[in-house]
Amino acid sequence: MNGNPAAPVAAGETGQELRSGADWEYAPAPESRDIVTIRGEYGLFIDGAFTPPLSGDYFTTLNPATEEPLASVAQAGKADVDRAVASARPAYEQSWGQLSGAQRAKYLYRIARAIQERAREFAVLESLDNGKPIKESRDVDIPLAAAHFFYHAGWADKLPHAGFGPDPAPIGVAGQVIPWNFPLLMAAWKLAPALATGNTCVLKPAETTPLSALLLAEVIQEADLPPGTVSILTGDGRTGRELVAHPGVDKVAFTGSTEVGKEIRRAIAGTGKRLTLELGGKAANIVFDDAPLDQAIEGIVNGIFFNQGHVCCAGSRLLAQESIADMLLDRLKQRLETLRLGDPLDKNTDIGAINSREQLDKIRGLAAAGEAEGAERWSPPCPLPARGYWFPPTVFSGVSQSHRIAREEIFGPVLSVLTFRTPDEAVAKANNTPYGLSAGVWTEKGSRILSMAQRLRAGVVWANTYNRFDPASPFGGYQESGFGREGGRAGLAAYLHG
Ligand code: NDP
Repeated sequence: MNGNPAAPVAAGETGQELRSGADWEYAPAPESRDIVTIRGEYGLFIDGAFTPPLSGDYFTTLNPATEEPLASVAQAGKADVDRAVASARPAYEQSWGQLSGAQRAKYLYRIARAIQERAREFAVLESLDNGKPIKESRDVDIPLAAAHFFYHAGWADKLPHAGFGPDPAPIGVAGQVIPWNFPLLMAAWKLAPALATGNTCVLKPAETTPLSALLLAEVIQEADLPPGTVSILTGDGRTGRELVAHPGVDKVAFTGSTEVGKEIRRAIAGTGKRLTLELGGKAANIVFDDAPLDQAIEGIVNGIFFNQGHVCCAGSRLLAQESIADMLLDRLKQRLETLRLGDPLDKNTDIGAINSREQLDKIRGLAAAGEAEGAERWSPPCPLPARGYWFPPTVFSGVSQSHRIAREEIFGPVLSVLTFRTPDEAVAKANNTPYGLSAGVWTEKGSRILSMAQRLRAGVVWANTYNRFDPASPFGGYQESGFGREGGRAGLAAYLHG
């Protein structure tokens, strides 16, 4: 495994000479952080303006790759939640909610274009605050966030023709709470469909990753949306709790842990609020013996090591057909030795930092449980930076279904490898989970793909690929992975009466 920053060019500093073996190192290729201006202190975005919190409280957001403070951010208290919800109601009743679909689309297109125009700034900020590699924030998070606004802008004036009845009505004020793994993208997943359908929004980003949502607030301000249409309340879980319980909120949309999802469901039971929950997962990535193995290896790597495995639909359980399991594992290990862990702002980095100390502790704890329960642990040789939160790509083989690492969501770069002999056994093992968000199938047989997709209890089944996202494609789960869909026509339904 290559550490980052890479070793300096050894032979032939000009790079003209042919070099051998260990000398083939990438030179550091850091993205400049100069494009981003991070303010010392951030207020809340309420009623179209940035404002200090009535609570008077602030917290510090860190760069997880270095543990350096990035900014001081407002902690919204109850009175701040009241203010934001109070501004969302008249915006819904008198301004935003009264606009035609074509007018709403105009604003959403503006936001989408502004995200594109400021894409580099967003990408660098996201990698600084979250720890994810710049190539992922640059090539995945930010373009997809813009795509969500473009896609939903396209829907805004077509709702009466989309099968929701002739005059589909928005729900009202949406309270939206998002996690830290895809901070801007999750904000886009929440805001774009809600706004396209005529709702107003109060959004709470995660405590450890508030900065891209605050930059989005700037974009929204510049796009000149009517005040109160979108408020962004930074804060920790207490802010989220106040927001979802607020009587002025008509619809709650949450992405995060199953535990908090359950708490929210209990908190709003009987209130008549509409609810969608996008929660955890423990997806099976199933590789049959006829699979295109080189592609499958890339899919396995992408499935669990993309975004350090901080992905609800991560392919965290590899189910390998027994006849190819040893060979697959050997080739996978060879591939993992080429991954580069280190500075998230380096364009060559594959694995960035773990988002927080808490998450690192959780990953370490579950990995230790894997060893204690008898699974075999392997990581490529991988020097970790001295400061910051880091965890090497890790593979557990010899995993049985009862192991905690096969049952619990680790939400880190840790793969559990299990084997199967027949398709029936693969289905039984894949479905042996309280979750049901996603799955992957690798085989050259189309008929097998279709039969597996029918039998797997998962909201999304990828075939011969993994972690593909598109705003037109509905995303969501079964069982403890939550309910409701985001994206596509189904995602619009979550924000409309009917
Ligand atoms: P949480 O579910 O705690 O956080 C998600 C969001 O909910 C955050 O904005 C959080 O605020 C907020 N929140 C926390 N408590 C409440 C509450 N009682 N009412 C309303 N909102 C609340 O996830 P964590 O960040 O703590 O991660 C814990 C585990 O959850 C991870 O290890 C992972 O397994 C799983 N997870 C799954 C995700 C998914 O997409 N499926 C995403 C994130 C986590 P704050 O950030 O301040 O805590």
